Amino acid sequence: MTHPATTRPAHVVAVDLGGTTIKAARYDAQGVAEETLRLPTPFSRGSDTVVAAVVQAATALVRPGVRAVGLCAPGLIDTDAGVVRFAANLGLRDTPLAAAVAAAVRVPVTLEHDVRAACMAEQQLGLGVGISDLLVVVLGTGLAAGIVSDGRLIRGATGIAGEFGHIPVHADGELCACGQRGCVEAYTAAGALVRRYRRTGNSADSAADITARLDTDPAASRVWAEATDTLGRALATSTVLLDHQRIVLAGGMTAAGRRLTDPVRRSLQRGLAWRTAPAVQISPLGADAGLLGAALHALTATDAPAGQGRVRRDAPARPPTPRTA
Ligand SMILES: [Zn+2]
Repeated sequence: MTHPATTRPAHVVAVDLGGTTIKAARYDAQGVAEETLRLPTPFSRGSDTVVAAVVQAATALVRPGVRAVGLCAPGLIDTDAGVVRFAANLGLRDTPLAAAVAAAVRVPVTLEHDVRAACMAEQQLGLGVGISDLLVVVLGTGLAAGIVSDGRLIRGATGIAGEFGHIPVHADGELCACGQRGCVEAYTAAGALVRRYRRTGNSADSAADITARLDTDPAASRVWAEATDTLGRALATSTVLLDHQRIVLAGGMTAAGRRLTDPVRRSLQRGLAWRTAPAVQISPLGADAGLLGAALHALTATDAPAGQGRVRRDAPARPPTPRTA
């Protein structure tokens, strides 16, 4: 069981490619963001334009002395190859994002999944410090998790571990965008909350609109109660499997504070009659956790020679595919 040291990312640039915004920062010798920028993600203008915007964000911040660039993005991410295998919201498929940036900046470039990056930041700088078994659930437009088990960030057999949002909770429940029914994401993600609330005949633009009405609007209370109960049930499933020491909730919906954590804790404990529930807390890292994690991940490349197009992380080698005689 190992715990990573608490280290801030020094002399690196990070770029967080999101569905609506590209965020970037350069971290100084103390690991403080000394220059930041934001660009709208030009997803409607094709994948080449999205890649060009990421390259632009990175090159705008790289200065002499920057040792590496860390990228993070949503979707199916091949960290070893630095390739976005598939990101539906960005129109990217088999896109060699790290190599594209490396060609422009001439320092090592890494690529990590955005939620795993946020989990890495939590593990090294947030509520995960010293915690060997951690679950970080990012509640946003969608819903995904980073898993640390026995001190290691889990990637899974095909690199897509942590698709927490697609844990089926309700038999024959709401149809999810993934094609399955009853997924936690179809109840608890911000988009699902708004959709389910509108179905009651009310209007809302965001999850915050709904949480602002919890004391006065029974429809808002009901949709919120179903969302938090569903999340608690999925957390119980995950806890039974992995025995988390701590669960950290992150993302925009955590602005609801105890309105979120109190009912989630109750639902989680109801699902764990025979054992104590792990602590459920809200991340202190805010909206830039992914960016910070991408910067930390870039540090894993700083012992590699500069100017390399692709950087391999220190992942264990996969066993060879068995052959049948
Ligand atoms: Zn689903």
